[in-house]
Amino acid sequence: MAHDLIDITAAVSREPGGPFSVEALKLEPPRPDEVLVRVVAAGMCHTDLMAKDAPHMPHPMVLGHEGAGVVEQVGSAVRKLEVGDHVVLTFMFCGRCASCLKGEPSYCERILPLCFGGAREDGSTSTHGVAGPVHDHFFGQSSFATWALASERNAIKVAKDAPLELLGPLGCGLPTGAGSVINSLKVGVGQSLVVFGTGAVGMAAVMAGRLVGAATIIAVDLVDSRLALARELGATHAIDARSGDVVEQVMAITGGRGVDFSLDATGTDKAIASALQVLAVRGTCGFVGGAPPGALASLDLGWLMTGGRTVRGILEGDAVPDQFIPALIELHRQGRFPFDRLVKVYDLADINQAAHDSETGKTIKPVIRMPS
Ligand SMILES: [Zn+2]
Ligand SMILES: [Zn+2]
Repeated sequence: MAHDLIDITAAVSREPGGPFSVEALKLEPPRPDEVLVRVVAAGMCHTDLMAKDAPHMPHPMVLGHEGAGVVEQVGSAVRKLEVGDHVVLTFMFCGRCASCLKGEPSYCERILPLCFGGAREDGSTSTHGVAGPVHDHFFGQSSFATWALASERNAIKVAKDAPLELLGPLGCGLPTGAGSVINSLKVGVGQSLVVFGTGAVGMAAVMAGRLVGAATIIAVDLVDSRLALARELGATHAIDARSGDVVEQVMAITGGRGVDFSLDATGTDKAIASALQVLAVRGTCGFVGGAPPGALASLDLGWLMTGGRTVRGILEGDAVPDQFIPALIELHRQGRFPFDRLVKVYDLADINQAAHDSETGKTIKPVIRMPS
């Protein structure tokens, strides 16, 4: 068996709060339902940094859940993919539960263990370090590595003429933001949308707002450079949350009516409270930014009912990845979804710098390029 092992280089999260450690590891070949992918580059999402630092996550582990690369081996049961296909790796889902069968894989009943369990569904792993096994299959991929194993379900075939090095963020952050606007909230022509937080998710939501013809797109953030970029990418208004009352400013922009849609991409109490307060009658507020464990919101139920308002959580932009990711790539090719404006590429050796620049807000979407 040992002669089948593949030499890989990967960024390992060894202990909560510690840095990524770039190491030489061995990877087992794909199982029958898996593909082996030579990773070209992988986006870095806040969920990677949360998982790196969370004491309740398995360690050591190879993280990375926005991989893009080339299929180099396919398991005997794989039907969707062939050797040589270009793929974007997205979140993992079981394919068998009620949500998966309904075509709503982002609400897979097994999504938490499959994405955060640090192993396959059966508990097995395939990555070996000098000091012993390393957890893998993070989001069914662990793509901060030169090679990764994915399921054929979460490896999405993409056009070969698309810029593979940039495509990784289409595995999670970008469809989350764009899908929230297009699939979940279904924002329409002439409607109004406010987006709290213009990181990669929020910026994708702003771009999607322009795509669907929203008339008023308000971006709220604390970083001037992000607000300026949000305006370039489609925001009709930008609010610096450090300057005055955000709710009052949104109300003023909308003539006192409030917005049809609000989207929180921050996960902070203050932004979530504002995202609720700015809703017009029949408005809908979506949450994609996460929330601290056990966080509760207080809602004026009379206000919610009499205005026919809706509040909902959103995971992965309600995307069906095999359809939505290629659609976003085509829109990018046409210049209508210019997500490359958010990306800065770092070499794998500089992954800790990328994490730092992501946390300080200097870089909106780091992409980690693998050594060839
Ligand atoms: Zn499922
Ligand atoms: Zn993510």
